[in-house]
Amino acid sequence: MVLFKDLGLEEDILRAIADLGFESPMPVQEKVIVHVLQDEYQDLVGLAQTGTGKTAAFGLPLIQKTNVKSNKIQHVILAPTRELCLQITDDLVNFAKYKEGIKIAAVFGGASMDRQIDKIRKGAQIISATPGRLVDLINRRVIDLSHIKTVVLDEADEMLNIGFRNELEAILSETPQDRNTLLFSATMPKAVQAIANGFMKNPIEITIGRKNSGAENVKHVCYMVNQKDRYLAVKRIVDFHPDIYGIVFCRTRRETQEVADALMNDGYNADALHGELSQVQRDVVMNKFRTKHVQILVATDVAARGLDVDDLTHIINYNLPEELETYTHRSGRTGRAGKKGESIIIVNLKEKSKVAMIEKQLQKKFIMQPVPAGKEICEKQLFHMIDRLEKIEVDTSQIEPFLVEIYKKLEWLDREELIQKFVSVEFNRFLDYYKNAADINVSSKQRSREDGPHREFSGYTRYFINLGKTDNLTPALLIGLINDFTNTNNIQIGEIEILRNFSFFEVENEAAELLVKSFKDKVFKKREISLEVSEKKKESRSGGGRGGDRGGRGGYSDRKREGSGGGRSEFRGRSDRGGSG
Ligand code: AMP
Repeated sequence: MVLFKDLGLEEDILRAIADLGFESPMPVQEKVIVHVLQDEYQDLVGLAQTGTGKTAAFGLPLIQKTNVKSNKIQHVILAPTRELCLQITDDLVNFAKYKEGIKIAAVFGGASMDRQIDKIRKGAQIISATPGRLVDLINRRVIDLSHIKTVVLDEADEMLNIGFRNELEAILSETPQDRNTLLFSATMPKAVQAIANGFMKNPIEITIGRKNSGAENVKHVCYMVNQKDRYLAVKRIVDFHPDIYGIVFCRTRRETQEVADALMNDGYNADALHGELSQVQRDVVMNKFRTKHVQILVATDVAARGLDVDDLTHIINYNLPEELETYTHRSGRTGRAGKKGESIIIVNLKEKSKVAMIEKQLQKKFIMQPVPAGKEICEKQLFHMIDRLEKIEVDTSQIEPFLVEIYKKLEWLDREELIQKFVSVEFNRFLDYYKNAADINVSSKQRSREDGPHREFSGYTRYFINLGKTDNLTPALLIGLINDFTNTNNIQIGEIEILRNFSFFEVENEAAELLVKSFKDKVFKKREISLEVSEKKKESRSGGGRGGDRGGRGGYSDRKREGSGGGRSEFRGRSDRGGSG
């Protein structure tokens, strides 16, 4: 077995690691620590998910290499969210506990700038930052990156997803040519590759295999229902797994709040986490979830990013994510730390092509399962309760004083009757609810009908529209307009490209006539809308299939509640890309 001391780490760091209870290095640590400890080393791209031990992998060698005699910033770690930034800072502080003179500062949006500036001016050598705030501080000349030795890009794919490309490029351009760059990412979409190509020197690539990413432990399950039954499906899935501890991912803030409210109203131990809540509210919800006072968290991708919980049993995709890579992130939140997990997608028939794309990317097939029927759920709940009854510890000293009276009161019931009554107390709610519950699975008849030639998907037509960023148009808003004007929510939408004064978007060929007719003579903010068929986009498209099913949500009216994408820098860009988060 490899030990931390075999990797070349110094005594003060080894002591700190021992205090943390780390016994042996995780695979990413074995590879990265030795590499970064060298005097000179090649840049590095690490394909690894959260939970694989990345922070110590780059943190330990960087701490060891920090020159504490200098008060200049030597290493900058960039992370997508405030929460991750703080987590990294905490970890680094722990690792550096016995290293005298080291100063580590966190720099992130949505918090007092003065305090952060103060800390930097006191001579921090390592900075853990979110890109937006760091750029702010560079522009204010508070931060000088000219002595930087290392830039770490943690969760690079997430940073680019949020829309931090410009900030990353600006930061990397500010740092010396001879710096090293370490890039970590769970996925390698083109945008991440572009950063690696443009700003890294001949990087070595390491992939942290499935062993620790949890992928092996995750079962991917697909339930196919009609659009209107999505929520019912969630309830049944939750009811079928009485011990569930999971996240339900939604696409928009509004949908997140609606699903959470509905679950809470229906008596579930759930709460919502999305970008419309204040930071304090989000912290409270995350804390309740971490401590398991909340069993089901309904969240947007952006808001859930800061949450690091290792023992989730289920991830439920209430809607498929817009970007395929996001599915990998979502599902990677379960099946961690050697535990088994289930990642569930609830889809309708029109999303079949998207499911196939995800399967291709995952290189795994979804297990198609029927949504549990009322009877199965009742059975599961009943035996769960009986299990609990069997295992429950009885504190006789506490109940002793009442027992005599209770025995006396129940004297007239025999054993069988008593059991029946106890079971019914807890269980009647389920029996009542599921008594006449219908089958909500999409029938095989429906499936084959939808598969028939008239629904065959023959590709997209690209349209030009004379509205753009100057009209505050966003993908979510555009989808809303299409929903509203066509008065339907089941048109397949492809790529959306919002430019300054106009935009392009794709809609399935089958909907061409309806679309053009519906947009005729329509007005947006007092401007007459002009819609024209445009030529196909020249360059090849990445990812593919954005938008997809819209489910009647995430539309125009959503947008009114979504804010306009300004706000905290960590969330910038995201609401520009479809309003989720
Ligand atoms: P990270 O991927 O850096 O977020 O780390 C995931 C979790 O693993 C954190 O809770 C770390 O404290 C923990 N961890 C990191 N390295 C080790 C190790 N070598 N042994 C045990 N736990 C570790």
